Amino acid sequence: MKSAAPGVVTSTVDQLAALGRSNSLWTLTFGLACCAIEMISTHMAHHDLDRFGVVTWPSPRQSDVMIVAGTVVKKMAEPIKLLYEQMPDPKWVIAMGTCATSGGPYYRSYSVVMGVDHLVPVDVFIPGCPPRPEALMDGIMKLQEKIKFDAKNGYRSAPINLETATELENEAHDRTSNG
Ligand code: SF4
Repeated sequence: MKSAAPGVVTSTVDQLAALGRSNSLWTLTFGLACCAIEMISTHMAHHDLDRFGVVTWPSPRQSDVMIVAGTVVKKMAEPIKLLYEQMPDPKWVIAMGTCATSGGPYYRSYSVVMGVDHLVPVDVFIPGCPPRPEALMDGIMKLQEKIKFDAKNGYRSAPINLETATELENEAHDRTSNG
């Protein structure tokens, strides 16, 4: 959105829709293992995701964001793809925890998918075993920024990896600290 003149702001319909969507995310919570406990905790009163406009929703038909939290075993691959396809566009996916991002402790196990991005497109990868609720909140806020950024630029940008983002932020901080 641009300020054309004092007191006047111009925008596009896409940007306005993205602003609304990013502040009203309905999450299809896909808890598959221990990370699900942290995801559930994030939605409860102590962390209170509602204040970011995020509510958990039991049906894919009205959900915008699928949060995959836990170990993705191969037997769950088809249900995950089916539920993703049932979500209306536009839709986003968060992979929470190292199991969902890359297989985690079960890396190269015969029964585990090496990251849910092998099944559905992922927008935000959150590292950790398990990630704390604060990490999930960070991921959701990064997704909100991504939704607005993509609407402004007219394309779907690359997924956000919080591990890499943290490393880059740390490097930038070190460079600043070292003058
Ligand atoms: S990343 Fe760790 S905590 Fe999360 S589901 Fe896998 S083993 Fe459990």
